[in-house]
Amino acid sequence: MAAIHSGSPPLAVNLDLMDAELVRSGLALAANRLAQRGLVIGTGGNLSMRVDDRVVTTPSGADLQDVTAEQMVVTDLDGLVVEETEHKPTSELLLHLEIYRSTDALAVVHAHPIASIAVANLVDELPAVHYTAALLGGAIRVAPHEIFGTQELTDAVAHALTERTAALMRNHGSVAYGDTLGMACERIELVDWLAEIYLRMAAVGGGATLSQDQLIQVAIAAAQRGYSPISRR
Ligand SMILES: [Zn+2]
Repeated sequence: MAAIHSGSPPLAVNLDLMDAELVRSGLALAANRLAQRGLVIGTGGNLSMRVDDRVVTTPSGADLQDVTAEQMVVTDLDGLVVEETEHKPTSELLLHLEIYRSTDALAVVHAHPIASIAVANLVDELPAVHYTAALLGGAIRVAPHEIFGTQELTDAVAHALTERTAALMRNHGSVAYGDTLGMACERIELVDWLAEIYLRMAAVGGGATLSQDQLIQVAIAAAQRGYSPISRR
């Protein structure tokens, strides 16, 4: 027993360091991918992950197409930068922090996807045009336009996120969160896919949508079968 203990490495410290590097590189990869898939252009969009009482975000003014792991900024839950860096945290830091405070999110993604913005400019709510909307909690609310980076925008989006894991932002974009960065990214892409379907329906005068009761039945069936509809959509 003694030999085992004396030979044990300081595991917690090593894991912390490894986690931090994984989080930074994961954010960079996800950011690059979002840009490649056309969900953001230029310096639009930002991503973050929460690790305990720390939040790792993409830097302000970054082009997500080529942002790197080293450029990520680490803050506490109040937004204070806690690791020395030449970069500033994302301009939407207030929004990210509010989502971490008010939900159980561990990752947040904000993007400027075309179909999502188009729908946000047309209606107050994106109806459930497909059963996978159950993954987002139902029809997706649209937060009214407020200036980017402000407390007003944060408040409006937080309200739109009530009992939802995604929201649309009028004349601006969308936001989604999840237990993992992959889940948050899948959700923001799902919102844009649903928005595209909605636009095609609206172009020919509308069509069938699902009620909240129908979505609850979908969620129950998915839970019973251990089925994840998003990855097999
Ligand atoms: Zn934005």
